[in-house]
Amino acid sequence: MDCLFCNIIEGKIPSQKVYENEFVYAFRDINPMAPVHVLIVPKTHLACADEINADNSACVAKIFEAIPVIAKAEGLTNGYRVINNCGEDGCQTIKHLHFHLLGGRKLPETMA
Ligand code: AMP
Ligand code: ZN
Repeated sequence: MDCLFCNIIEGKIPSQKVYENEFVYAFRDINPMAPVHVLIVPKTHLACADEINADNSACVAKIFEAIPVIAKAEGLTNGYRVINNCGEDGCQTIKHLHFHLLGGRKLPETMA
């Protein structure tokens, strides 16, 4: 399996790292949609949110523990948005579970 985000986590493909711990890797989105646009991924490969279950959900908790730490480091003192796209209808393009952290300006109220 050749997964872009697994390759980024392993350092085989360069990224702008903003945070890392034993379970989580976070880096800047290559095509930012806001002044701060960070992707947060579990180090263990899961294709998408639809694969989360009771046996593997701890990695999601680790991601959500990292989010306030990253948000603080990025200066997001006035709030932010966390997004996960899942599958075809969710317009997920990279098949390694990831959460978008967006902020640094007032974001649109609606996301059609
Ligand atoms: P999604 O549509 O939720 O699958 O989002 C995938 C995101 O990955 C998009 O926002 C892309 O801009 C971003 N992306 C794709 N390739 C890279 C890369 N090599 N480094 C950083 N971000 C990337
Ligand atoms: Zn992967």
